[in-house]
Amino acid sequence: MNDVAALPRVTYSNIAEDFSGVHAHFGKVIAEMRDRQLGLERPNHLGGRDNTEGTAYDAPCPIDRRLSLGRFFAASPAEVDRAVTAAKAAQRGWRALGWPRRVALARKAADLLEAQKFEVAAACLLEVGKSRMEALGEVEEAIDLIRFYAAEMEASNGFRRDLARANPREETFDVLRPYGVFAVIAPFNFPVALSAGMSICALIAGNTVVFKPSPMAGLTGRLLTDCLIGAGLPEGVFNLVCGGAETGAALAANPDVDGIAFTGSHAVGMRMMREFGAGGSHARPVLAEMGGKNPTYVAASADLDTAVSGVLRSAFGLQGQKCSAGSVAFLHETLAGAFLDRLGAAASAVVVGDPCERETFIGPLISQAALERFENSLRQARAAGGTVLGGEVLSGGLCDHGAYVRPAIVTGLPDDHALHRDELFLPFLTVRTFSDLGDAIRRGNAVPYGLTAGVYTGDAAELESFLETAEAGVLYANRASGATTGAWPGIQTFCGWKGSGTGSKGGLGAWYLPQFMREQSHTIMR
Ligand code: NAD
Repeated sequence: MNDVAALPRVTYSNIAEDFSGVHAHFGKVIAEMRDRQLGLERPNHLGGRDNTEGTAYDAPCPIDRRLSLGRFFAASPAEVDRAVTAAKAAQRGWRALGWPRRVALARKAADLLEAQKFEVAAACLLEVGKSRMEALGEVEEAIDLIRFYAAEMEASNGFRRDLARANPREETFDVLRPYGVFAVIAPFNFPVALSAGMSICALIAGNTVVFKPSPMAGLTGRLLTDCLIGAGLPEGVFNLVCGGAETGAALAANPDVDGIAFTGSHAVGMRMMREFGAGGSHARPVLAEMGGKNPTYVAASADLDTAVSGVLRSAFGLQGQKCSAGSVAFLHETLAGAFLDRLGAAASAVVVGDPCERETFIGPLISQAALERFENSLRQARAAGGTVLGGEVLSGGLCDHGAYVRPAIVTGLPDDHALHRDELFLPFLTVRTFSDLGDAIRRGNAVPYGLTAGVYTGDAAELESFLETAEAGVLYANRASGATTGAWPGIQTFCGWKGSGTGSKGGLGAWYLPQFMREQSHTIMR
């Protein structure tokens, strides 16, 4: 145990460390998880009790679809209603507990997650098919997220502030209050960090939670639930309901839900805005973080090695299944040829395969539906006169039991083609060229999304112009570790502009937590 605790953390800032000890230990934990922890029954959790009343389903492991991640239970509207009723009944007591106690419980949950971080990371790797480093980094991020928001609550004194007095007999102050019951609805691709971040903010703020993970991510959803329950949250404060769109829709339709924290696709998030946010007698908060179509601009003055490394990592890391994936590269026409030669060579050298192995960079796509989207996108590209580099669908061995593809780089598409504009969520990079950076940024901005953007330039004026005009909430310049990806609590905030988010404040920063509360002013005459 002591030896394991002494291993370096896989975080944003220590990527250059020697991780051989981490790999040795993690390899054993992955094998143990694969052999002994998959295929088990993983109940929902309602009102302080485990519950198996929904429709049972097995979630396939994307690495090898012959393996079941576990047996889960899609909660019906009746079970969802029971979970919401339990959350509503528990909310008054949870609020009355006071924020210092809630913060202490959150920190305990972070400690429990830290104690099991290799096991939870192994579950995440097997569930999403992400690489070892991505899986470990995600769990470290989840731990830091909980601690970060706990510290924010404390630093803000529970968001209570004395106000000025117009009269000496008057006592006035301002306080942020919880809404009541929050639904937390999460996507498949960062199932630990995003679920932990949304849930812990709702909880610390004094709301109770009904949490619905992605139907593909019930395993980590249950492990996270165990950490929260194990920390000592009172009965009904945190409830887990598994299932897909139907369960999510039943949750969003429940009149006793007071707010939704959602991360997922644009279509689903916007529907919640319309139907839940503005569909009742009064507006209700929908804190939605949604998709992206994130451009990278490589200017004539760019350092090519840095740019190739950053574009490769952001376009194809986690199989392109990141909201922040750099899915469109704008290349200055003077370097486009050289850049593509190098990027093509680097992309054809990345290891695609079983992410349980330490050298694998690209694991499987999440599902057969994602594979069909990949093949369909390739067909569309070719039909429009585009040239595809890579993009092979692999077969043989493990590849016959999962969706393994080589990343695709597509050039020569018409400038107005939908593949430049729509989120694909695949290892699929489209390339556009430019002669004027300002014009390229205008073209890159002309999409419904506004999540992340990156630039490579050695020119200070070009950098300034990018920072001033790029329409996205997260900007990066000259990063070899990722052109448009990578964020850590307290280091990069993560706010989706335009169709990438419904709020004006994103996660990982100081302004996210207060969105889970509403303001109340108190004036008391003494
Ligand atoms: P998704 O929208 O298909 O599903 C997200 C969640 O919503 C799942 O739990 C799903 O079961 C649920 N859901 C689906 N239909 C619903 C409905 N009608 N009512 C209620 N709930 C419903 O997304 P996904 O495929 O799991 O994840 C990928 C998407 O998430 C991408 O668009 C990606 O860009 C986005 N994402 C955004 C961020 C961010 O921070 N902006 C981070 C990660 C992922």
